[in-house]
Amino acid sequence: MDERKEGQRGHAPADGAGMAAGDVAGLRVPAIQTGSPRVSPAVPDRGARRWGKAYTGLFQARGSRIEVPVKAFLVEVGGHRVLVDAGWSERCAAHPLRHLGFALWFASEPLLAPGEGIGPQLERLGVAPRDLDAIVMTHLDCDHASGLVDFAGAPRVVASGAEIERSEGRDVRYRRAFWEGVDLEAARLSEYGAAPFGRACDLFGDGTVTLVLTPGHTAGSMCVVARGRRSGPFALLVGDTGYNAASWDELRLPGPLFDADQMRRSLAWVRDMRSRPDCAGVFAAHDPAVGPGRYDL
Ligand SMILES: [Zn+2]
Repeated sequence: MDERKEGQRGHAPADGAGMAAGDVAGLRVPAIQTGSPRVSPAVPDRGARRWGKAYTGLFQARGSRIEVPVKAFLVEVGGHRVLVDAGWSERCAAHPLRHLGFALWFASEPLLAPGEGIGPQLERLGVAPRDLDAIVMTHLDCDHASGLVDFAGAPRVVASGAEIERSEGRDVRYRRAFWEGVDLEAARLSEYGAAPFGRACDLFGDGTVTLVLTPGHTAGSMCVVARGRRSGPFALLVGDTGYNAASWDELRLPGPLFDADQMRRSLAWVRDMRSRPDCAGVFAAHDPAVGPGRYDL
């Protein structure tokens, strides 16, 4: 038996390969696609263009843009229900320019049909905001945080302290209107040797959902490790700490970067996690190889 008490928050994750607790329920990961933006090829791979700011889409033919999916993940494990990222809001379908402001709209150019926002999609799954134990934000970029406007009053919205702090400054990549009225909770990160920067948070204190600090794309990006059974597989949920397998296999840097060295270290950690025999898969928000639907692991 795991001696940690259920309901405690912010514990150091269990040591060793497990990141796991007692033999709890299985693991389900519904992947919810909330449209797709058309972006510069330099967004997933900054090597695709020479200019370091090419990911903004400036001075490039709009016809050269590529579509990348935007997904949120509903993790159901150990009796918990956690939304990892919030994707695009339904408001982005109705009034994208007003919702995003010009700069983010120009760089992201969202393609989103009515009904594809995170709110209506969760509703169709029969999940109300109050049914969520937490919303975990891998980071606060617009394509992950836009949907927070659909969840005013959600019980817990968790991001890393570094990400929250950075978003409160002048960095134009953040649009605070998305989480106005939301009480962002800083994840209680503890020392954890197996994390790339030695910091992680056992969200429920039972080893089922572990938030791992993986900065680089942004100042405080996190990945989520979800595991149902002690001996069962784990799923690694990724925001932008890797867009697809080439990102982590070849350590390809994305266009938008906070720190290149941190990014490489975080990507190398994703690659190492992916190679473990108990890894059921890397579920990345923008990976076209991860289609929408429910994954039973
Ligand atoms: Zn993104």
